[in-house]
Parts: sequence; C-alpha cells; structure tokens
Amino acid sequence: MKILLLGAGGRESAIAWKLSQSPLCTQLFIAPGNGGTEAYGKNIVLNPNDFDAVKSLVISEGIELVIVGPEEPLVNGIHDYFLNNSELKNIPVIGPKKEGAVLEGSKDFSKKFMIKHGIPTAAYQSFNSNTLNEGIEFLKTCAMPIVLKADGLAAGKGVIISNTLEEATEELKQMLSGKFGNAGSTVVIEEFLTGIELSVFILTDGNGYVTLPEAKDYKKIGVGDTGLNTGGMGSISPVPFATPEFLAKIDAKIIKPTINGLKKDNIDYTGFIFFGLIKVGDEPYVIEYNCRLGDPETESVIPRIESDLVELFLATANKSLNQFNLKVSNQNTATVMIVAGGYPGDYEKGKVIAGLENLRDSHAFHAGTIRDEETVLTSGGRVLAITSVQSNAFDAIQKATADASRIYFDGKYFREDIGFDLMN
Ligand code: ATP
Repeated sequence: MKILLLGAGGRESAIAWKLSQSPLCTQLFIAPGNGGTEAYGKNIVLNPNDFDAVKSLVISEGIELVIVGPEEPLVNGIHDYFLNNSELKNIPVIGPKKEGAVLEGSKDFSKKFMIKHGIPTAAYQSFNSNTLNEGIEFLKTCAMPIVLKADGLAAGKGVIISNTLEEATEELKQMLSGKFGNAGSTVVIEEFLTGIELSVFILTDGNGYVTLPEAKDYKKIGVGDTGLNTGGMGSISPVPFATPEFLAKIDAKIIKPTINGLKKDNIDYTGFIFFGLIKVGDEPYVIEYNCRLGDPETESVIPRIESDLVELFLATANKSLNQFNLKVSNQNTATVMIVAGGYPGDYEKGKVIAGLENLRDSHAFHAGTIRDEETVLTSGGRVLAITSVQSNAFDAIQKATADASRIYFDGKYFREDIGFDLMN
C-alpha cells in the first residue's frame, strides 16, 4: 500500500518511522518531511495546505492512504477536499473533516461543546469586539490569575495568563484589536486551574476508539519549567501519576462523553483526538482539544505501540476500531528536544549538526532539520527529538538526556531535567 504522510516535524518523523516498519507499507511519501524522514520514505517538497498540489501527488503516485500530521490542513478542510473530489473521495484520510477539526480550530466552539455535553472544563465566557465593554466588566468579577485565549489557531502563542486585573484588561483590549489577527476576533476568558497537566490521545473512526499511551510534555524553555512557553521541550510516557484508576476516570468522564457528544451533534470524526488535560485534586479537566497528535508527545507515544500502525489506520478507515486490540508495550520512553539557541525567540538556521552517529541508547527523530547531501543542517527552532525506550522510566530519561549531550551544533540547547520531577 502506498501511503502519504503530511507534515514536517518530530511528530511526523515518529509516525513515518513506525509506518515504515509495517509490511503493509510498500511505499511511504512524506510531504514535505525533513532531513531525517528520508530514512523512512521519500520526501516530497510540497506545502500540505496546498490541496491541489496534494491532489496531483496523490494521483500521480497512486497513493492509497493519507495521514495528516499537523492541524492546519485539517482545520482548512483537507479531508472535505478529498470527499468533494471525484478522483479522491475513495482514498481514506486519517484526520477529521472541518466540522470535527473545529474542536481545535475554535476554542469558543470547544468550550461550548464541553459545557453542552457535561465534560469537565474551566468555567468561561467569550467576548468579541462588539462586547469588549462587557468583557472588561466581566474581568472585574474574576479571581486572578485569569486565562485569556484567542479563539482561533495562533501557533501555540494565543494563550495569556494574567496575574492582575490591569494586565488582563489591557491584554483583552489588545487581543480584540487584532494582536493575533483573525484568530483573536473572539477571546475566551477562562478560570485558571491549578494542577498537573497530561496529554491523552485517542484514535476514533466516529464510532469506536482506541486509547493510545498517555504522555506528559514539558512546555517551558527553562529547567524547572520556567521561562517562555515553547512548542514542547520533551516528554515522557507512561505518566507516573496517571494511575489505572485515574485513566478510567478520564475514559468515563471525558473520552466517552466526547465521542457521544460528537455523535449527538452529527459530527462524523475520523482521526486523532488529543485531550490536553489537567489533574486538579483527583479530577481530570479538559484544557483543550486538538485534532491531531502532540509534538513532542508522539515521539514518546509511538515507540510504545506494538500494533501495526497501517493496520490501525485501515481499521479506522473501515470503521472497525471497536474490534481493534491495540497492543502497547510496558516499556518507558523519554524524549528530550534539542533546540536552536535563542528559541522560542529569534534563532539562527543552517548550523551543521554533528554527533548523530554517537547516540548510544536513543533514536533521533528529526524535527527542524534539512539535509544537504551528507550534511544535516538545522532549519527550525526545535531541531531533534532524542527518544530512549527502556524498561524503567529513570533509565529512559537518563539515557535520552545523556544522548542529547552527544549531539553538537552551534548554539544548541536542551533541558537536562525532562521527566526527573516525576521520579520520586
Ligand atoms: P498548544 O501549544 O498546547 O496548542 P494552545 O495555544 O492551544 O496551546 P492551550 O493548550 O489551551 O493553548 O493552553 C496553553 C497552556 O496554557 C496550557 O498547556 C496550560 O499550561 C495553560 N492553560 C491553559 N488554560 C489554562 C487554565 N484554564 N488554567 C491553567 N492553565 C491553563
């Protein structure tokens, strides 16, 4: 079977790595891919948001299955584009249609959905430029800190946590006057929850679902989870505080009501749902939904899946996930992200990466890299995900961290504390 995977990050590297191990995968294309994905398939220079270009590739190469890594093409309707096109409509796409991707594409929509279906989430209200004054009045009634979220996609930067009323009021004004462009034309003002976060993933065919291994990611740039937010600096799986009892609670209070809510609202959803959760006391709350897998969680989650990924995707396309028995290893994984100096602010690209052959106990999933003949160069902020799979969590963390130090490029940085906070 010829398979096309859309995307270019560490997440797509991990998915491509796993797909390439399937005997059912005769040829894998990754578009656009990165400097590492050529080890698993053929890179194709193409923008996944250019649907006509995706169509040309699918037809010329005889692609039989399409997997969409990032959210943007899904929110922009790539699955709908396939269904509405006579030459493409029978090719399965793993990833929801626009009506499902809106769970991630609009925070206002997802909050309404959660409240409607009784899914635990922080209390909130939404405002737009016509209701700015009501928003300012509402803020006066809120406890601090308070969370302000741009409704639409803002590349992970659209969430502001304000500690004072003055700061929150100023932020609301700025957001509603275009700080995040159209994404901020509606702003969700949300109660601040105190707890510990984790990421839970399911794959659904609209009826049945399988739950993938959970993971914890580390969002901040600095040791001790300090400093600016990033796309993610590392991850571990499993998560020590996600006990079987707590995971059962997540299934009963969050996953099942979400699947049932989608059905009730006639949203036919095929693809991943990423539940960004926070554990408050002993209770799980949804911070956000995403319509794709997380990055860098995927690099820790995928190596724990023992089942054939192509079989899993075909069961999704055939709507037989209810009968799919997902096999997960009880190994522990840790991922340490190596980033460019300056990230998440300005950073330089084009630095030569050395030491990839020196890793002892880990695999390097490329993220922001390109290849120039035999040389691998940095091409993004998050450069390499170093993932180690071991029989215990401490070893996985320690080995991924040690291997991250064996890679060299000018300005490289990584957190040396990924996962260690949960090791006592
Ligand atoms: P992502 O980069 O994960 O896609 P996003 O821009 O979609 O982020 P959220 O996940 O909703 O935004 O929020 C980003 C982060 O802000 C969360 O991971 C969490 O740390 C913090 N946060 C969001 N909402 C709340 C809340 N209600 N209480 C406390 N912290 C919150």
